[in-house]
Amino acid sequence: MTELARVLFGREDIRHRVEELGRTITGDYVGREPVLISVLKGGTVFLADLIRQIQLPLETHMMAVSPYGGAEESMGRVRILLDVEIDLTGRDVLLVEDIVDTGLTLSYLLSILRSRRPSSLELCTLLDRSIRRIVPLRPRYVGFDCPDTFVVGYGLDFEERYRNLADILEVSDTTALKADPDALLSHLLVAG
Ligand code: 5GP
Repeated sequence: MTELARVLFGREDIRHRVEELGRTITGDYVGREPVLISVLKGGTVFLADLIRQIQLPLETHMMAVSPYGGAEESMGRVRILLDVEIDLTGRDVLLVEDIVDTGLTLSYLLSILRSRRPSSLELCTLLDRSIRRIVPLRPRYVGFDCPDTFVVGYGLDFEERYRNLADILEVSDTTALKADPDALLSHLLVAG
């Protein structure tokens, strides 16, 4: 392991927690057919594992958004690049995210989805960095509380790298990573 980053949540911890979340969601939605919506690209790894732990009929859909300028400077307003292709009226919608940070993007996205009149709308996030929250937003399902340090792996990227790491790494020196974006590639070689 390099000193640039350390394992914050290992693959086994993630697997156990995703199983637990899947069981909870299965219990909460029994008798219903939820629509799980993931936001490209970070949330897709979590979504792929989560749906296999939910023992219910369900649908999955993807959305892609792009902030107007930076996330904070845009106050969370996003342009929808890819939208769900079904009518959400009367559906039980569960938005699946990798991480909720300031909550700006998510609250805007939730308001868009709410306007489509689903019968329920909940948020499931693998990581919740509640300490950074700017807008009040409490996800119904949370995998782990996340400290205020930059993380990569399990869908989360740095300049499009590291989404395929099985563990979630906490980056202690983002300046060094910016200087050498490949600096964590050795973690891909660590056998599971
Ligand atoms: P926010 O909640 O601030 O509107 O934005 C959340 C989004 O910012 C996440 O979906 C993710 O794409 C990105 N993000 C926030 N924190 C991190 C982090 O520590 N690592 C990575 N890779 N992306 C992050």
